[in-house]
Amino acid sequence: MDNIEQIINRLYEKYKDCAGEGEVASYIPALAGADPDGYAIAVTTVDGKEYVLGDYDTKFSIQSISKVLTLAMLMKQMGEDLWHFVGKEPSGSAFNSLIQLEYEKGIPRNPFINAGALVITDRLINFNQKPKQSIIEFVRELAGSEDIYFDKTIALSEIDTSFRNEALASLMKSFGNINNDIEEVIDIYCHQCSISMNVLELAKSFLFLANAGVNPADGRQIVSSRGAKRLNALMLTCGLYNESGEFAYRVGLPAKSGVGGGIVAVIPGKLTIAVWSPVLNKNGNSSRAISTMEDFTTELGISVF
Ligand code: GLN
Repeated sequence: MDNIEQIINRLYEKYKDCAGEGEVASYIPALAGADPDGYAIAVTTVDGKEYVLGDYDTKFSIQSISKVLTLAMLMKQMGEDLWHFVGKEPSGSAFNSLIQLEYEKGIPRNPFINAGALVITDRLINFNQKPKQSIIEFVRELAGSEDIYFDKTIALSEIDTSFRNEALASLMKSFGNINNDIEEVIDIYCHQCSISMNVLELAKSFLFLANAGVNPADGRQIVSSRGAKRLNALMLTCGLYNESGEFAYRVGLPAKSGVGGGIVAVIPGKLTIAVWSPVLNKNGNSSRAISTMEDFTTELGISVF
C-alpha cells in the first residue's frame, strides 16, 4: 500500500499515449465532444491519502456511475422493500437492452442496467419532494465539494434522444412497475447521469463503500456496513453490465462504469480508484480505464479475491 504513488505513476506512463480500441460515446450527442485522449487517475484511501495524475481537473459526466449513488439513497429511504421492484442478478445483456424486460414482466434484472436505474429513480420521486435537489446534495456531501452540478447541456441532449429509455420506462409502466410520469422519470434520470465530476471527486464519493458505509471525510454513516457490502456485491456482479465477469476476472474489484468514460472501483477496507478515459469498448466501458485498473490490482497484489 505504500507503493501506490509509484504504481500509478508507472501506469500513467504506460498508458498515457494509448487510449485503446473503440470510440467516444455519441448516441448522446453532447457526449461526442469529449477529448478522446483525455486520461486521469485518482486514488483515495480510507486513511485520508489522495493521489492524482493526468487530466485530474477535467470534469466529465458520470453517467451510469450515478446509479450506485441513487441506489444508496433509496436503500436508506426504503430498505429491503426495494428488492420487490428490481432484481440482483447480472443481466448478461447491454445496459439499454429491452429484451429481458418483456420476458421478466417489467422487473429489471438489477439496478445498474438502465431499466433498473429508472425504477430506482421512479421510487426516489415518491420519497423526495425535490428529487433532483436531493440527489445533487447527496452527491456533494459524499464528494465533500459544493462544486458539483448537473451538466445541463448533456442532460438536455440525452432527454432529446432518450428513445430507448422512454421505451424501457413505458414497458415497465405497462407492467405497473413505474409509478410516476415517464417524462418526469426520464428528466430526473438524465439529470443524475449528467452529474459532472473530476476523478478525485469521484474517488472520494465512493470511499464510504471502502469504509463499511461511513464517509471517512466526515464520519457520517451513509449506508449500514451491511448495505455497503451489498452495494459492493452488486457492483462486482453487475457494475460493468455484460462485461462484469470479464472485469472481475481481470481486475477483481467491485466497480461501476459510465459512458462518459469513467470507472470507479473499490478495495473494501482500503481505497477507491477512479479512472477517466472516454474511448469506450463495444460494451460501453472505458478500454483504458479497465487496463489501468487491471495493472493496478496486479501490481498492488490486492483484489477482493
Ligand atoms: N445515461 C446513459 C443512458 O441511459 C447511461 C448509460 C451508461 O453510462 N452506460 O444511456
